[in-house]
Amino acid sequence: HAKDKPAFDPPHPLSKIKHVIAIMSGKGGVGKSTVTALLAVALTRDGNQVGILDADVTGPSIPKLFGLKGKPEASELGIFAPRTNLLGIRAISMNLFLEREDEPVIWRGPIISNVIRQFWTEVIWGDLDYLLVDLPPGTGDAPLTVMQSLPLDGVIIVSSPQELAVMVVKKAIRMAEIVNIPILGLIENMAYAVCPHCGQKFFPFGEPKGEKVAAEVGIPFLGYLPINPELSQLGDEGKIEEIEHTGLGEVPKILSEQLSR
Ligand code: ADP
Repeated sequence: HAKDKPAFDPPHPLSKIKHVIAIMSGKGGVGKSTVTALLAVALTRDGNQVGILDADVTGPSIPKLFGLKGKPEASELGIFAPRTNLLGIRAISMNLFLEREDEPVIWRGPIISNVIRQFWTEVIWGDLDYLLVDLPPGTGDAPLTVMQSLPLDGVIIVSSPQELAVMVVKKAIRMAEIVNIPILGLIENMAYAVCPHCGQKFFPFGEPKGEKVAAEVGIPFLGYLPINPELSQLGDEGKIEEIEHTGLGEVPKILSEQLSR
């Protein structure tokens, strides 16, 4: 039933993108952008060409994490997605187009949706194995636009223990189900911390529940990430690519297996 399928916007003719994965969270501040950046780093270190489309138009944080600055080059062909310094990850974000990075973007939903679509249709991404789409938190207009305009292979849900307690995450999971997009898995961020003195694990937000929640709703569980002061420091300094261990372990391999099925 080809006509039942939504007609996705075509990407720029000079973009050849193998897989598109959106990163979603139920609410803000759980570390979705940080995990998106870490995943890009982990996939790149595994030998993949990776891009990040920052679909969080009003709260963009991808350029800051990677220390990316300056307006992307553009010609009549389109907009060239700039590469990060160390690993050459390509990234596009609204923040790169603002005169001042602290300028707010005060736009209504339809305009924001158009910007997201342009990041897909007018940006020259080149050859990518993975395009990661950092969605704004929640289940609003912008995530819906991405789910309906981009040919997503699946979504990854990022949560934190506090969020799982109130089950906001279940709304995000339901949304992906309703629009018929596979859920590749759940990552629980800030699940634990390690005492710098004795090395013991402790749980500032209570016991992690990711594995249990994932099993309850029938989606793969991809792993726990600790609270890591080095991570927030490198992120603040725009040096997230320098992180020694992403903590994501087998996640790139699991994703590649899931997507080759
Ligand atoms: P979101 O995209 O969900 O709004 P961010 O990725 O911007 O969240 O993260 C929110 C804040 O929490 C940032 O300051 C970030 O550096 C910090 N943070 C996120 N994950 C971790 C972590 N695992 N350890 C330490 N700090 C973290």
